[in-house]
Amino acid sequence: MRILILGGTTEARQLAQRLAGRTGLAVVLSLAGRTAAPAQQPVPVRIGGFGGAEGLADYLSDQKIDALIDATHPYAAIISANAANAARRAGVRLLALRRPGWVPVAGDRWIEVADVTVAVHALGDTPRRVFLALGRKEIEPFVVAPQHYYLVRSVDPVVPPLAVPHAVYITGRGPFAETDERTMLEQHRIDVIVAKNSGGAATYGKIAAARALGLPVIMLRRPAMPDVEAVETVDDAVAWLDHALALVTARGV
Ligand code: NAP
Repeated sequence: MRILILGGTTEARQLAQRLAGRTGLAVVLSLAGRTAAPAQQPVPVRIGGFGGAEGLADYLSDQKIDALIDATHPYAAIISANAANAARRAGVRLLALRRPGWVPVAGDRWIEVADVTVAVHALGDTPRRVFLALGRKEIEPFVVAPQHYYLVRSVDPVVPPLAVPHAVYITGRGPFAETDERTMLEQHRIDVIVAKNSGGAATYGKIAAARALGLPVIMLRRPAMPDVEAVETVDDAVAWLDHALALVTARGV
C-alpha cells in the first residue's frame, strides 16, 4: 500500500515515524519547502508544490497512491482544499489529521478575529508592544501600523525586514516552554500577542504565559476546511490506515 502524507507538522512526522519500516507500506512525506532546513523525517521526503489540485491528482495517479493523509497545519487551507479535490478526482482515500484548537480557559483574554488584516486594526492607534507569533509570510499587513513595537519570531529570518521603525526579530523552532515564553514577553515588555489557534502543546507556552501575565491575545480564527473524513490524533490516523490496509489486503486475496 502506498501512502502519501502531506506534512509540515509535528503530527505528520510522528505519523511517519509510526509507519516507517512497516512491511506492506511505502510511505512518502511531502513538504512545501517553506523552511531552509526542514526537520529530519523518518521516511522518504518530496519537497515543493504539486501544481494545484490537478497536479496533486496527477501525482496520486502516477505514483499509484492508495491513501492520502492530509496532516498539514490547521491554517494551511489551500493545500487541504487541494487534497480534498485531488483525492476525489483520483479516486484515492483521504484522511485529514487535524489537531484540535485550543479552547480559552478562565483568565484568558482572547480577542478572536477573522484574519491578519482585522488583527492589525484590533491593535488600535495607540502604540503598543506586540509579539507577532505568526509566520514570516503573514506579517506584511502590519506595515500599515508602524506606530507599534513588534517582536517577530520565525523559523527562518525575515528577509527583507518589515518596513516599520520598531521591530526586533528572533528565530526559533518550537517547542517553546511556558517559562521561557514568559521571560521573553517580560524582557520585551510585550503588552499584546497576535497568534493563530494552532492547537497542540509545542506552541501553547505563549498562550499560558499570556494568561499568567494577564495579556490579551488577538487570536486569528481557523480557516474553513473541506468536509472530509478527519481524526484528531496520530493514534486514530494509524487505526484508520490499519483498517484501510486490511481492506486492500482482503481485496487482494
Ligand atoms: P497553503 O497556503 O495551504 O498552501 C499553499 C501552496 O503550498 C499549496 O497550494 C501547495 O502548492 C503548497 N503546499 C502546501 N503544503 C504542502 C505540502 N505539505 N507539500 C507540498 N506542497 C505543499 O500552505 P501554507 O499555509 O503556506 O503551509 C505550507 C506548509 O507549512 C504546509 O506543509 C504546512 O503544514 C506547514 N505549516 C504551515 C503553517 C501555517 O500557519 N500556515 C504553520 C506551520 C507549518 P501547489 O498548489 O503547487 O501544490
